[in-house]
This record gives sequence, structure tokens and C-alpha cells, in this order.
Amino acid sequence: MDEHREPDGLRALPAVERLLREEPLRSAARERPRALAVDAARGVLERCRADVRAGDGAVPDVAELAVRAARDLEARTRRRLVPVINATGVVIHTNLGRAPLPADAVDAVEAVAGGYSNLEYDVAAGARGSRQAHVERLVCDLTGAGAAIAVNNNAAAVLLAVSALAAGREVIVSRGQLVEIGGSFRIPDILATSAARLVEVGTTNRTRIEDYERAIGADTAALMRVHPSNFRAVGFTAEAGLPALCDLAARRGLAVIDDIGSGVLAHGPGAAAGVLASEPAAAASIAAGASVVCFSADKLLGGPQAGIAAGTAAAIEAMRAHPLARAVRIDKLSLAALEATLRLHLDPARATAEVPVLQMLVADERDLLAAAVRLHDDIAAAAPPGTTVRVVRATARPGGGSLPLVELEGPALAVTSPAGPDALAARLRRGDPAIVTRVQDGAVLLDPRTIADVELEFVVRGVCAALRALA
Ligand SMILES: *Cc1c(COP(=O)(O)O)cnc(C)c1O
Repeated sequence: MDEHREPDGLRALPAVERLLREEPLRSAARERPRALAVDAARGVLERCRADVRAGDGAVPDVAELAVRAARDLEARTRRRLVPVINATGVVIHTNLGRAPLPADAVDAVEAVAGGYSNLEYDVAAGARGSRQAHVERLVCDLTGAGAAIAVNNNAAAVLLAVSALAAGREVIVSRGQLVEIGGSFRIPDILATSAARLVEVGTTNRTRIEDYERAIGADTAALMRVHPSNFRAVGFTAEAGLPALCDLAARRGLAVIDDIGSGVLAHGPGAAAGVLASEPAAAASIAAGASVVCFSADKLLGGPQAGIAAGTAAAIEAMRAHPLARAVRIDKLSLAALEATLRLHLDPARATAEVPVLQMLVADERDLLAAAVRLHDDIAAAAPPGTTVRVVRATARPGGGSLPLVELEGPALAVTSPAGPDALAARLRRGDPAIVTRVQDGAVLLDPRTIADVELEFVVRGVCAALRALA
């Protein structure tokens, strides 16, 4: 840039070294890496130059520049991944980290996180062991499968299953099941990535077992069923059931890969059974004869991010031996949480009482009302004039692509501010901890179903502070 054409003010900008000596940047820089502080100072000066050249404002003084650079520097070294309060009523909220872990799972993670563990070491034998040993037996006991493997997530489990059982060959899928789950998980893309060839059969709304039968050729390796997790086709619809698919596959010597998505282990007794009844269960797939059933660990199972594949010894061994298995393997922290969560599921009553996702799905109306009333009373007592606080009826949802038709009725708190619901919701999101809410009918809705008891006082404090700031 030609010096003579520079706007006058730019010559008044301080040098980087001068800016670094100015408070509050000087103090902020003292406890942080020097390179970051220099970079923050440079960045602020550069943005300032660009603004002035664009005719966008005057040159700030050095004190103002130091404030901006200190703010940047602090933001760059602050912890970013932090807890938030989910007041949305969406139980499995993918953007908010899906399932909160059971206390047992948190303990298990803490026990192995800071030190060494027997992750892949057989302590009794003094020899190398398998990380899968910690969960395989539990998955088999819970689903009736002969073998199992845990991987990074369910997308990885499906990719690994198709790769190990059908790469270079054909997989037959119903057109009604070529779904997108969200976050770019699309069944046709997964098959393309695995180098298996997708053979579509049937129509969007109706597919019969004869459609599969006609499509089977010399190159067919597997029949695949995909649970259309996040939507339901209603009306004139039909799919060949899994038992029919397994029967056909057995007669023709093919594998059956079943992606059930959400990870209900079994439909048995237990308080949560009613809510979960409309999701397919892994145990039912195994009983029907699926070679592999794949599901998520952080949806209705209520555990850490992980994917589980359970099935026949031969199918699981093929997956274990595939090179992709290493690329998608589960890490030790997730494995610790998964083992603890699965152990809780051995006793369905205990799982319902101790797995937060299940607790929230079956939450008692009286407990929800007590929490809503407590929020109401504490917030109403401190709310500035012009605010309204009411207990209303609201609908929470399972979320995470699970149980799309299930609506969880219950009490919730509706709060209005003269500043309007969007301003209030934005203010709550900027709090510490951030409170994420839903806006409905001109009010901010706080759903106690997804707010833990220990979080209630933070919600009261956060809402009162936000209302006062906006008054
Ligand atoms: C959620 C889902 C997946 C992806 O599972 P992740 O654990 O998120 O990777 C795959 N298939 C179906 C049917 C699902 O519902």
C-alpha cells in the first residue's frame, strides 16, 4: 500500500510492542503464551487498519486497542467445551451432547482417565488383551447375540459392517429405507464409501419380500434394513419385516445387516418399556436371525458416544479383522462409560432409575410439577416489573431421531419479558452457564424434564439476571 495514500489516523496506530505494554493486555499476556499475545495484538491492529481504510470509523486510542486485544487473547485461551443447561425439553439433543451419562459411567471414566488401565492387558495372564473384552459379554447377555464389537459411533458400526460383509458386492436396500439421519449420514453415501454396491428395491412407500428376492444375483452379499429413525411413513405403506428378510437370506446364503439406530436393547419388563415400545430392539433382531444389528450408545441407551454391532461370531469376526476396525475403534474413556452404562441395563428397573435419558423419558408428573413450581416461585419473587411467569402445559420430545411420534406432555415454565422472547432467550444463552430454551407463543419456555435437580438454582439465578438485564 502506498504510504502517501494512507489515511492520516493510521500513522497514529501504536507498534505491536507498545500495545503489549498497555493494560489490560499487559496483564492478560503475562499468564499466556507470548506468541498468542503478539498475534492477538497484531490481529487487532490489522482489523483496525482495514476498518479505517474502508472508511469505517476513526482510529481508536491505544487504551481501547489494548482492551480489544486482551478480550481476543482471553477468548483464545478460555475453555470452550463447557456444560450448558438444556431447558428445551428435547431429551436426546444432539447439539447439546446427546445423553448425559449415568453417575456410574461418570465414575468409571474418572477412574481410568488420569492413569493407566487394563484397556488391552489381561492382568491375570500378564499378556495382551482386547479392549472389546470389557463390553462384549455384556452386549451378548443383553441382546442374545453370539458376539459383539463396540466402535466410535453407529455410523462407524454400519460402515464397518457393510465394508466387512459386502465390499465389492451388492447390498439390497428398500427404497423406503434410503434415509438421511442428519449430519450427512445418508445410507446411499455410506454404501458408496464402503465400496459395496447399493441395489434399491421396491418403492418409497411399499416394498415386498418378492422385491428383494427378484433382486438377488450372483454378486449379492447382504440384505440391509435401516430404521427410518426420525420420520414415519403413514398411509398406504408396507415393508417386508425383518423375520422375512432373515428367512430369505438364510435360504440364499446371504448376510442381513440391521441398522436399528437408537439402541433399545430389548423390549422387556421395566418402567421405560412402554415409551420405548415403538423403537426396534436389538434382541428382537438377533432373535429374528440378523447377522449384525447396529445401534448407537448415546441415544436411547443413554451412554457415551459409541456404536455397537452385535451378531453372529462369524460376522463380528469379519468386522474385527477388517482394516477399518482400527480406524473407528472406541477410545478408553467412552469404553469405560459404555461398560458402566451396559451394566446398569442388566437390571431394567435400575436402568430406568439411574440412566438419565430413561429417567427423563418416564419422569413422574408430580416431580416435574414440583420443579416447575419451584422455578415459578423463585423467579416470580425476584422478577422485575413487566415480567410474567406462568406454569403451562408443554410437550417435550425424545429427540435424537428416536421415537419421532412420541410427545411427552408435562408442566413447563413460560416466562415473558418486555424485551420480547427472542431477546430473553439470547440473553440466557450468553449466561454462565448458558441456558438453552425454546420460544413458543411469545414466551421463553423452560422445560423441567431436561433440567437436573442440581441445575434448578442456576436456572433461577440465570433467568433472574437475564430479566433484570433486559428490564
Ligand atoms: C442415529 C442413527 C445413525 C447414526 O448413529 P451415530 O451414533 O450418530 O453415528 C445411523 N443409523 C440410524 C438408523 C440412526 O438412527
